[in-house]
Amino acid sequence: MLRSVPQVGVPQVGAPESGVPEVGVPQDGAPESGVPEVGVPQDGAPPSEPPPAVALAFAGWRLAALQAALEARGVRRTRAAAAVGELARAYHKLGLPWPQVLAAAAKSLQPELAALCAPEPVLEITEQALAADGTRRLLLRLGDGEVIETVLLRSTTGVDRTTVCLSSQAGCARRCAFCETGRLGLRRSLTAAEIVLQFRTVHHLWQGLRGALPPLTNVVFMGMGEPLDNLDAVADACAVLQDDRAYGLSWRRMTVSTVGVASQIPAFFQEVRAHLAVSLNAPDDARRSRLMPINRATGLAELKAALLAALPPGRDVLVEYVLFGGFNDALGDADLLRAWLQGLPVRLNLIPANPGPDPSLRTPDSLQVRAFQQRLLDAGVRAMVRWPHGREVGGACGQLAGARRGRVSAAIGPVAT
Ligand code: SF4
Repeated sequence: MLRSVPQVGVPQVGAPESGVPEVGVPQDGAPESGVPEVGVPQDGAPPSEPPPAVALAFAGWRLAALQAALEARGVRRTRAAAAVGELARAYHKLGLPWPQVLAAAAKSLQPELAALCAPEPVLEITEQALAADGTRRLLLRLGDGEVIETVLLRSTTGVDRTTVCLSSQAGCARRCAFCETGRLGLRRSLTAAEIVLQFRTVHHLWQGLRGALPPLTNVVFMGMGEPLDNLDAVADACAVLQDDRAYGLSWRRMTVSTVGVASQIPAFFQEVRAHLAVSLNAPDDARRSRLMPINRATGLAELKAALLAALPPGRDVLVEYVLFGGFNDALGDADLLRAWLQGLPVRLNLIPANPGPDPSLRTPDSLQVRAFQQRLLDAGVRAMVRWPHGREVGGACGQLAGARRGRVSAAIGPVAT
């Protein structure tokens, strides 16, 4: 979905879209109703579905599911648990290659593991760019030649920490007007193993930089793709990343960002242990539809209804609103936004737009950004401003996929945080 850390990109105000749904853009149905509210799934809970019949790469296996699959093949529970723990330590924590991990497993277990675990997917770093603010943008090539982008960034808002921004798809079908990735169209969804391997690759890089970067504690799905269009893989990947035997990340430090695929929101809260962020970006349907084709099928009222119906008790949603100079940053727009937020438990991130594919879309004036925020604060809305990271390397919101197409201006300087 969105780009880099709490971010989106730059809308193409100068390129109005037709009212006809675009080819390849999934049409979001009406929000489901009557879906029971559920809380957060429990850590380590056994999978509710039977283990997959086909072999998965180890990176994509939920560890509890792999243990269950071993038990189903006759391995004693304690032995299966110990084996899975050792495999996870070697592969995830130590970063050893899968063939080496498999070769070191007990000989008697190797036939079972070979039957259950497919070869590791290919994922290689083909390019790295480092911004002055410490943001690293990585270009990663998959086994079939598709290319995805991942961003490693140092957050300086409050707590010093490192965040990884992951991609869930190569390209994206949603075709948001402001987004470089949307211009590629959907190439394909990533497997859970590819998503985990993406994190593992960056984790390994971060380990090599230890001392130069603060603890790697946060993950956001704001890279290439719409995560709710690849929900099962995202759910499995989150489960692996949060498993103490793998990376032990807290679900409270993971955020999945969506354009608002209303039909998938109930499933998100049932299957994924992470915060949900919704990219809003406009205070009315006319402007939102211009930016985000999904809004033509699911307008703002339906999106809000879907969130209210699906949000579990005690949970809130992060709303992201990218500010474009002269497009959606008037004080009257702040009032419209406040009205839409009313009744929803939300945190609001205001994101000054990054330079993107359409130069007619302006980065807002910083004084106007502050005035917009103050208007909302005065109305009792928890509104934070998130200044972009990594602009000059194309790692900021709306810029992923742009750098390799030569669209990012080298003249753009780093942004103060
Ligand atoms: S086109 Fe896809 S990747 Fe880009 S902002 Fe929209 S949902 Fe996110």
